[in-house]
Amino acid sequence: MADSTYSILFEPMKIGPVTARNRFFQVPHCNGMGHLRPQADAATRAIKAEGGWAVVCNQETEIHPSSDLTPFPEGRLWDERDVPALQLMTEAVHKHGALAAIELAHNGNHAGNLSTRSTSFAPTDMAIDLLVPKQARAMDKSDIRNLRQWHRAAALRAKEAGFDIIYVYAGHHMALAQHFLLPQINDRMDEYGGSLENRARLIRELIEDTKEAVGDSCAVAFRFAVDEMQGINGMQAAEEGRAVVEMLAELPDLWDVNVSDWSNDSATSRFAPNEGYQTPYIDFVRQVTSKPVVAVGRFTSPDLMASMVKNGILDFIGAARPSIADPFLPEKVRTGRIDEIRECIGCNICVASDNMAMPIRCTQNPTMGEEWRRGWHPEKIAPKGEEHEALVVGAGPAGLECAMQLAKRGYEVTLAEASDEPGGRVRMESQLLGLGAWKRVVDHRLYDLNQRANVQLFLQSPLTIPDVLELGIGNVFIATGSEWRRDGVGRSARQPIPISNEMRILTPDDIMAGKKPDKGPVLVYDDDQIYIAGVIADHLSEAGHDVVFATPATMVSPWTEHTLEQARIQKSLIERGIKLRLSQKLTQVRAGSVELSCIYTGQMQQQSCATVIMVTERQRQSSLYDALADHSATQKNSLQNLSLIGDAAAPGLIADAVYSGHMAARDFEKDPKLIQHDLYRREIISLQGQN
Ligand code: ADP
Ligand code: SF4
Repeated sequence: MADSTYSILFEPMKIGPVTARNRFFQVPHCNGMGHLRPQADAATRAIKAEGGWAVVCNQETEIHPSSDLTPFPEGRLWDERDVPALQLMTEAVHKHGALAAIELAHNGNHAGNLSTRSTSFAPTDMAIDLLVPKQARAMDKSDIRNLRQWHRAAALRAKEAGFDIIYVYAGHHMALAQHFLLPQINDRMDEYGGSLENRARLIRELIEDTKEAVGDSCAVAFRFAVDEMQGINGMQAAEEGRAVVEMLAELPDLWDVNVSDWSNDSATSRFAPNEGYQTPYIDFVRQVTSKPVVAVGRFTSPDLMASMVKNGILDFIGAARPSIADPFLPEKVRTGRIDEIRECIGCNICVASDNMAMPIRCTQNPTMGEEWRRGWHPEKIAPKGEEHEALVVGAGPAGLECAMQLAKRGYEVTLAEASDEPGGRVRMESQLLGLGAWKRVVDHRLYDLNQRANVQLFLQSPLTIPDVLELGIGNVFIATGSEWRRDGVGRSARQPIPISNEMRILTPDDIMAGKKPDKGPVLVYDDDQIYIAGVIADHLSEAGHDVVFATPATMVSPWTEHTLEQARIQKSLIERGIKLRLSQKLTQVRAGSVELSCIYTGQMQQQSCATVIMVTERQRQSSLYDALADHSATQKNSLQNLSLIGDAAAPGLIADAVYSGHMAARDFEKDPKLIQHDLYRREIISLQGQN
C-alpha cells in the first residue's frame, strides 16, 4: 500500500457468507457480449479482476424465455445448458482473486420476447416498453408462483456456475420486481398491489427465496433504485424509497442502491458534471441498514472514494464506467499510481454500444471489449521489433494514443503538431458547454508522454512532405484529422447547396476556434445528426445568441438516444427558447435568410438569420498522407511504413480515433499475417450436436 490515505479502501469486508478483498466493486453493467459472446465476456470481466476489483459482476441475466431481451445480448440462464458459458466468467474472475456476481433479471414488460415469442409479463396489462406492437399481460397468482420458481432455479444454476454473489434486481425501470413496487404501474387489487408492503411483497419473496436456495454459500445482493428523479410523480428517496430500505433493511446481504431510469443512473458528464452525483439520493441507506452498501457516481477520484467510506456513506465504491475506462483503477490506487488512472469522461459511448446491441467500446480505453478477440491488455503491449524510430504527425486523439503506445513499446517517437497545443478535436470540443470532462482524453495521454524520455513533442510544427523526408524517419503515422465542410454536403445533400456570398457561414471548427457569429439570429443546421450540433446550439445560446435549430431529423441530435442524452438535449434547447425547425432540409442560403424544405411534403419555408453554422459532414485532411504515399510509390524504399489513422482515415467518434491510433501502434512491425485490421477471433457457433 503506497499511500495510507487510501488504506481504508483496501480493507476486506464480509458480504453475507463471502468476503471481498477490498472496497472496489464493479457493479453490473452490460457489455454487448453476454450469451452471444461468452468467451469475450469472460475475458472482459477477468481484466477487471486482474486490475484489482474485489467484486466483478456480469450484467442483467435473463432467468427465463419470457424475459428475452433480443436483440440485446445480455446474460442468459434459462436452463442448465447456459451454465458452462457463465462458468467461463466465474473461473476467469476467481483466477485473479475477485468475487463473481450475477444480476438475475426478469424484465417484465421491458422484455419484448422478440426471439422466443413468449408472453410478456407485468403487474398489470400494459404496453411493452420497446416500441413493438405487443402488450404484456397482468400476472395472475400462478404466474407469480412460476416467476418465483424460475428465479429460485436460476439462483441455483448461478451457484452451480460458480457465482459468489447473486442479485435480485429492481432498478432502471427495467425489472419486474421494480414494476410491482411502483404505484404508477401497479394497480393490482390483490396482496401484490395497494399498500407499499403489498407492492414490495414480490421483492421480499424473491430475496427470501434466493437466500433460502443459495444463501448458505452465496451472498444475496439487492439492487434497488431509491429514486426515479421524477419528484412527486415517481418514487422518491426521502419517501417510499427510504420506506422500502427500512422495511427490508436486514434481508439482503448487500444493498446496491442507485437512481432510475438508466439515463439518470448513467448520467453523462454533460448533464451530471460532478462525481458522486447520486450521493444526495442514496446517502441515507447506510444509516438504515447494518448490511454493506454499494453505490455508483462515476467515481474516479481516490480521495473522494476514501472519504465516502470513512464518512460512513458507502462500504463499497461502485463503478461501471470508471471500471470500463480503467480496469486497473484499484491497482493504480494501491500502488500509488494515481496520476496514471485513465479517468472516465462520462461520454456514454460504452452505453451507446449496448444500446446498439454491439460489443462494448470506450473512448478512454481502446482495449475495452478487445481482450479476447484481439488479445489486447489495457496495461501491456508487446515490445518493439527491429525498427527504432517513429514519426507521428498530428497530436489529436489518434496521434496522441498512437505516440503513447509506440513509446510504451520502446520506439524513439517524434510527435509533430501544427497548432500551439496538443489535443486536436478533443481540445477543441472540450471547450464547448458541458464537454469539459472530455479533456481527460488529452490529459491522460500527455501525462504519460511527459513521463517518457523516448518521446519528443514539437508544437507549432505543421509538417510538409519535405519536412517529413528531411527528418529521415522511415516509419510515419499520419493523424492529421478532419475538418467540417462548409458547402452543405451531408446526409441530405450529395451536391453543394447554393450559398450566397452575403451570408456568413461558420462550421463547428470555427466556433470552437472562437469565431463569433454576426449580430442577429444564428441558424444551426444539423445534417450530421450525431451530437455536435446540439452542443453548439446550447453553447451559442448560453453565450447570448438568438439560435434557430434546423435539421432534416425528426428530433434534435437523434443519435444521442444511444448515449441516453437525447431527451435532455431537446429539453435544454426548448427551455432556452431555441426555435426548432425539425424535418427540414436546407436547400438554399440567401443573403439574410435560408430556404428550408419539409422532408415529407417538400413544402418550403424561409427562415431569416445572419449566420449559418453548417454541421453536415467532415472532410478528411489526408493531403500529406496522399503526397507521401505517391512519393513512396515512385521513390522506392523512402519510407518503410506509412499509415493513415484516426479522422484523417475515416471521420468518426473520438473513441474511433483513439482506437485507430492504438491499433496502428499494436500492428506496427507485426507479422503481416497477424495484422489485425480485419482479423479477430470470433465465437463461431458449432454446428455439431443438438443444443
Ligand atoms: P484525430 O481525431 O484523428 O486525432 P484531430 O483532428 O483531432 O484528428 O487531430 C488532428 C491534429 O493534427 C490536429 O491537432 C492538427 O492541428 C494536426 N495537424 C494537421 N495537419 C498537420 C500537419 N501537416 N503537421 C502537423 N500537425 C498537423
Ligand atoms: Fe466513460 Fe466514455 Fe469510456 Fe463509457 S465510453 S467508460 S463514459 S470514457
